[in-house]
Amino acid sequence: MTDCWIVDLGHYLTPNGAIAPIDGRARQLAEYWTSIVVHATANFAHPPPLPCRRRPGREACGGHLDIHIEADSDAIHWSCPACRERGLIRGWQGTLWDGFNDPPLSS
Ligand SMILES: [Zn+2]
Repeated sequence: MTDCWIVDLGHYLTPNGAIAPIDGRARQLAEYWTSIVVHATANFAHPPPLPCRRRPGREACGGHLDIHIEADSDAIHWSCPACRERGLIRGWQGTLWDGFNDPPLSS
């Protein structure tokens, strides 16, 4: 059986746009989702690979996520080719981690 996470990033954020969960597993997950958003929207060609967070049998999965933005839905799709975990992230537009939202560099 394959896990498929469907996440709305807004559910993890405070009204100010910060990560809402203070600690624990929810915080870890929220930071994972935001790092995927950063990766998907980074405005450079080859962002560093993002390691899979899973630790099956307490060993790091070792896979690196495939991340892309779905053209039809604007959801960020991610998957791990090693363990097959995968998911969709919605509600990321305009958050602190949306690299498309960064102001253009000024001189
Ligand atoms: Zn994995």
